[in-house]
Amino acid sequence: MSANLTRRKLWKTAGIALTLMPIVVFTRPASAQTNTAMRAELKYQSTPKDDMKCTTCLEFVPGKADGLGACKVIPGDDEISPDGYCIRWNTM
Ligand code: SF4
Repeated sequence: MSANLTRRKLWKTAGIALTLMPIVVFTRPASAQTNTAMRAELKYQSTPKDDMKCTTCLEFVPGKADGLGACKVIPGDDEISPDGYCIRWNTM
């Protein structure tokens, strides 16, 4: 195999990779986020406390298929469990 052929093959492979890169970047699912500091401040736990849990709290924002959601008082966090609880649990 000549050096020219090898170089041509390398450029072709690099071109394909560069062409596919935006497809890979834009089809990647958004990464999940947790707000660790706020969770700690509000003593968030992923299990209910007695009958109190996120699904019965007015601050809970249900998520999509996986069941996890968000919370209006914990910004930047989309990993709130429907069965979770924190000291801001609110039904009024
Ligand atoms: S305020 Fe607390 S209990 Fe209510 S949804 Fe948010 S994390 Fe859950």
